[in-house]
Amino acid sequence: MTDPRLPPNFAHLMADDVPNMDTEECPSLPDTNNMDDYQNWVGTMMGKTADGPRTAYLSLKGCGEAGEFAEKIGKLERDQGITEWDQIPPDNVKALAKELGDRLWYIAASARKLGLTLSMIALMNVLKLTDRKERDVLDGSGDDR
Ligand SMILES: [Mg+2]
Repeated sequence: MTDPRLPPNFAHLMADDVPNMDTEECPSLPDTNNMDDYQNWVGTMMGKTADGPRTAYLSLKGCGEAGEFAEKIGKLERDQGITEWDQIPPDNVKALAKELGDRLWYIAASARKLGLTLSMIALMNVLKLTDRKERDVLDGSGDDR
């Protein structure tokens, strides 16, 4: 099943990882077009530590995943001189996608622990950035500008 909204290379990049993504045949998979459904699935994949009371685990591990993404970007520049998005080879895009997925998991899990849904967070972000764009302060500094 290929979603027509996905980039043309997405099916190629993921086909070898997940040969059968038909959710009718795999009913336990979340509807990844619905981020709250994805987040509910994340809740079923949280171990005792991730679902525990302490804030550090999800926060620090999420930062670690952001670091893994940045590490791969840094190595592309150091080892291959790649400094622009459209220069990144498909295999590296795939590896970066996996790191973004890991980051997304920690974001979804952290939001869940705060009692927030991903749709709520997305809406808050949309409203914040729309307001900044309307006031022409997208490129400024400060959390509350
Ligand atoms: Mg990772």
